[in-house]
Amino acid sequence: MILMVSSLEPGQILKLNRNELQALITCKDNKVIQAMYHHAESITQRFFGNKIYLRGIVEFSNECEKNCKYCGVRRSVKSVKRYCMDKEEILKCSDVVYNNGYGTFMLQSGEITTPERLEWLEDVVRSIKKRSRELESKTFNRPLSECKGLQIALSVGELSSENYQRLYDAGARRYLLRIESSNPKLYAKLHPKDHHWEVRHQCLLDLKRIGYQTGTGILIGVPYQTSWDIADDILYLDRLGAHMIGMGPYVYQSNTPIGNYWKLTVGKTIKTEEDQKNYHQYLKDLTIRVYALTRIVMGYANIAATTALIALAPNARQEALVSGCNLVMPIITPDEFRKEYSLYKGKSEVVAHRENLIKLIHSIGKEPVFFEWGDAISHPMENKK
Ligand code: SF4
Repeated sequence: MILMVSSLEPGQILKLNRNELQALITCKDNKVIQAMYHHAESITQRFFGNKIYLRGIVEFSNECEKNCKYCGVRRSVKSVKRYCMDKEEILKCSDVVYNNGYGTFMLQSGEITTPERLEWLEDVVRSIKKRSRELESKTFNRPLSECKGLQIALSVGELSSENYQRLYDAGARRYLLRIESSNPKLYAKLHPKDHHWEVRHQCLLDLKRIGYQTGTGILIGVPYQTSWDIADDILYLDRLGAHMIGMGPYVYQSNTPIGNYWKLTVGKTIKTEEDQKNYHQYLKDLTIRVYALTRIVMGYANIAATTALIALAPNARQEALVSGCNLVMPIITPDEFRKEYSLYKGKSEVVAHRENLIKLIHSIGKEPVFFEWGDAISHPMENKK
């Protein structure tokens, strides 16, 4: 395995099999681990050079019909104050995203499937498109007909194929829906009985068929997950031909069934600050390793260095951005709402501001890209169609 990793041509995509992936996920040899990161970075360089793309993300509502067992804003958590920003508040955020040059605006929320929500969201998507095109025209003194405005990405959960189509027709072109786990049995442990893996998988197929640049990902280090599951997850992401990978570490969330289970198992072994630090180090390393292996296997996908990493270690995002990741998603949810969107502990404190983000990206010798969409490079299978 050491020879195999170290003798590769820089930038060479490697279709690792399940056994090889599992061996690399659990490998303890530092030389191999460093070679893995280095090779992942060479593939990122091949497809994206030094460019780091930015997506401004607003968590416009924490209302949710679902009850995922690991989530801090799941339906049955009563201690959270529910909110939904109004259209004007969201449009102000879209101005912030545009003026910061982030190129893509991602709208994220819990899952609400009512016809009223869908109609409202269609209107919001259309309005963002219109307003950002007008802003572009004004900012760059360009004729409106030449202005593309912001690229719009959604992450609002499982909807019917028809509703995905309506949002596409309204102007949304990207969609992030994490599969959370490619193993239906593990998925069933992390969700209540009325949440079905097959439905989620079908949603991803629908999104791809409609033409969305489709993003997905998994929860890394969640209770019950094995290294074999993670190996299968990477193969799943590749088979699906995901255009974007948005995944992050499982971070303990109190008041949730999985959080309670974690506390009784892993949490019980964490007694001192040192233990806590070691656990965070382990989770950070595992997450970055999964990013690197995903890059090595998939090559062209946009892979986000999640904001959640900062809750584990202050420099974790920098490490991720030189080990396979090529985009960051600064959160621009206004302060008054942010504290109520705590899917995991520590998130509300880790909002990166533009200047810090630029400094961070420059500190690793890379360049942030402004006023560009940074669309995904097509999946090779799609190019054959
Ligand atoms: S993970 Fe998403 S869909 Fe599940 S309960 Fe949380 S907000 Fe709702």
